[in-house]
Amino acid sequence: MASTAPDQASPAPVAASAAVACDPAAAPTAGAGPRAVPTFADAVLGWYAAHARDLPWRHPDAGPWAVLVSEIMLQQTPVNRVLPAWWAWLDRWPAPSALAAEPAGEAVRMWGRLGYPRRALRLHQAAVAITEKYHGSVPDDLEDLLRLPGVGTYTARAVAAFAFRQRHAVIDVNVRRLVGRAVEGRDDQRSAVSRRDLELVESLLPPDAETAARASAAFMELGALICVARTPRCAACPLRPECAWQRAGSPAATGPARRAQSYAGTDRQVRGKLLAVLRESPTPVPQDALDAVWDEPVQRGRALRGLLDDGLAVTVAPGVYALPGEHSWPGA
Ligand code: SF4
Repeated sequence: MASTAPDQASPAPVAASAAVACDPAAAPTAGAGPRAVPTFADAVLGWYAAHARDLPWRHPDAGPWAVLVSEIMLQQTPVNRVLPAWWAWLDRWPAPSALAAEPAGEAVRMWGRLGYPRRALRLHQAAVAITEKYHGSVPDDLEDLLRLPGVGTYTARAVAAFAFRQRHAVIDVNVRRLVGRAVEGRDDQRSAVSRRDLELVESLLPPDAETAARASAAFMELGALICVARTPRCAACPLRPECAWQRAGSPAATGPARRAQSYAGTDRQVRGKLLAVLRESPTPVPQDALDAVWDEPVQRGRALRGLLDDGLAVTVAPGVYALPGEHSWPGA
C-alpha cells in the first residue's frame, strides 16, 4: 500500500481568517457559531483529510486483529518496514485463532527482521488469550485489552480507538511531542505518558466517539509527518497560527536528550545473528552453527542466554537449540 508523503507546500485549508485555538480551555466547540475559532482537533482533522497516508490498517474493513497486529509491529519499527510484514502476517494468520494454533516459534520466524522479536512472542500469547478467553475476537473493552499479553496503555487505547472507534486519548511519542509544542509551548522529549498528558489530550478530542477516533489518528499523523522531532515543518502545519511553541520563540528541548541507539557490536546485534540462524533452519541447530556467526565466545554466550531467558529459543538437547515449541530432538 503506497504511503503519501506530506505536501509541505500546502498547509491544510483551515480557517484562513481565524486563529486555531491551541488552549484547550479556551477552545470553543466546532459549530459554536459562524465566527467560531476552529478547535485544535478541527485544524488537525482538516489537515488529515488532505494529507493522511493511505495505510491499510486504517481502512474501515481492516478489523480489530489487523489493527492490533499493526500497533504491535509499529511500536518500534517504521511504517515502510512494517507494511510488507503486516500483509504477510495477516495473509498467513487472518484471525487470532490461526496464529494461536501454531507454535510460538512460527511467530518468531515470521517476524523476520522487524527487530525486537519479543513482540512476536507477545503477539502469539495475545492470540492464544484472545482465542481462549474471548472466543477468538479481539475484545473491545479497554480493561480487557489491557489484560492481553504485551498490550500496554498505548496499544490498548490505540486498538479501542482505531478498531472500535471509541473516544480515548491515544498518546505515542508523536502525539506527546505535538501537544507538548502546540499546546504547552515546550519541546518535551519525555517518552513517559502521565495522567496529566492523558487528560490534556482527551480534552482536545471532539465529543463524539467516531470523530474523536479519527482525531486521535490525525494527531499521530501530524506528529509523525510535520511536527517531527528534529526540525518541525511548521510552514506546512495547520496549528502554526497559534502554536504555543512558535509563540514562545521555539525554546530548546527539555528532558533527557535522545541518544542514538548503536547496534553494531552490541549484544542486540549478536542476538539478532543467533536468532537468524534459528529462524532460517528447518531443524534444530547445533552449537557450532551458532559459533560460526559470532567469534567472541563470552558475548555470544551472553546473547544466547538472553534468547533462552526471553523464551525466543529453547534447548532441545545439550548444545542443540531451536525456536520455541517447534522441534523435538531424538533422544531429548
Ligand atoms: S507549528 Fe511547528 S512546532 Fe507547532 S505544532 Fe506545528 S509543526 Fe509543531
